[in-house]
Amino acid sequence: MKKILSGLNLKEIEEITDKLGASKFRARQIHNWIYLKSVKTIDEMTDLSVKFREELKTVADVTDVKIKIKQESSDGTLKYLLEYPDGECVETVLMRFDNRANLTACVSSQVGCAVNCSFCATGKRGFIRNLSYKEIVEQVLTIQRDTGLKVTNIVFMGQGEPLLNLDNVLKAMEIFNENFQIGARRLTVSTSGIIPGIEKLADLDMQSTLALSLHAPNHEIRAQLMQIENKYPMPELKKALKKYIEKTGRRITIEYLLIKDLTDTIDAAKQLVEYLHDIKCNINLIPYNPTEKNDYQKPSGNSIMRFKSLLEQSGKKVTVRLERGADIDAACGQLRGRV
Ligand code: SAH
Ligand code: SF4
Repeated sequence: MKKILSGLNLKEIEEITDKLGASKFRARQIHNWIYLKSVKTIDEMTDLSVKFREELKTVADVTDVKIKIKQESSDGTLKYLLEYPDGECVETVLMRFDNRANLTACVSSQVGCAVNCSFCATGKRGFIRNLSYKEIVEQVLTIQRDTGLKVTNIVFMGQGEPLLNLDNVLKAMEIFNENFQIGARRLTVSTSGIIPGIEKLADLDMQSTLALSLHAPNHEIRAQLMQIENKYPMPELKKALKKYIEKTGRRITIEYLLIKDLTDTIDAAKQLVEYLHDIKCNINLIPYNPTEKNDYQKPSGNSIMRFKSLLEQSGKKVTVRLERGADIDAACGQLRGRV
């Protein structure tokens, strides 16, 4: 079995170069080729001798992940469907904003998702399996190899619930930090509200951004949209969030889904303001993206603006999430590993 270089840390690469009788400096060179220069093949590692590259090829490969489908949206968003050696597939998305210096990868943490929110295509698929930290890291490496660009920001907003695969997510974040040199503040973890996971992140004093998919102004509507509300209801959730904010000193992001006539009403805005009044947060409004098998509708432009200004009156910073890649089903909630 050949070793897969992607996802290995320096020490693990040194074990390979040691076995081949090469110096530790060779390991450092290989590490740079993988993480900073994003090569596709060992042959491209041109500062290694041809002889050493041939030896390395007998024991190692760059990757074992295949790009099954690649799609480009009219807005420049790229969506990849990746296939792991066991045949399971997940999406990973690269968003290019006007400011070219900022390249955000949206990674998956699980194949499918057990939380099964009623508005989300991933949830409809059910839970298949966790991704290992190497499989998470590999998504970003694949993007870098394919585009030749360096990812600057990472959001855990693809398939899956990151806090239900927390050990692998934390390990991947550590690698993004140390090997990709992406600072903690440029990483965002989004959760549907798994309280034990939030408490663990508070204990670890996580300095990345925590985003909470709140999506509703009260228990009744949230339970209708997200079954998880019955397990981790809003009052308990609030306690966990406050503990997290107190411990880490960080402002959190509240994600709020705007669904026509359900969550975008004036009444909903008032209840949301009340719920959030003592939580240090920014609010990110996400207009609902249509997916199959439910009757929810997109909010109108007017109701989005009305909702935004009602929240702003409470003194919070509010942004509306730009819809990216909807024409290739790469927008929020549209990922489901479809081939
Ligand atoms: N499981 C995590 C992270 C992945 S989902 C979570 O739920 O937070 C990323 C974001 O897309 C979440 O806020 C999710 O609620 C939102 N989303 C899911 N389906 C959507 C849809 N149909 N339209 C808009 N946003 C959606
Ligand atoms: Fe899972 Fe997030 Fe989709 Fe809910 S919104 S089903 S938690 S991926």
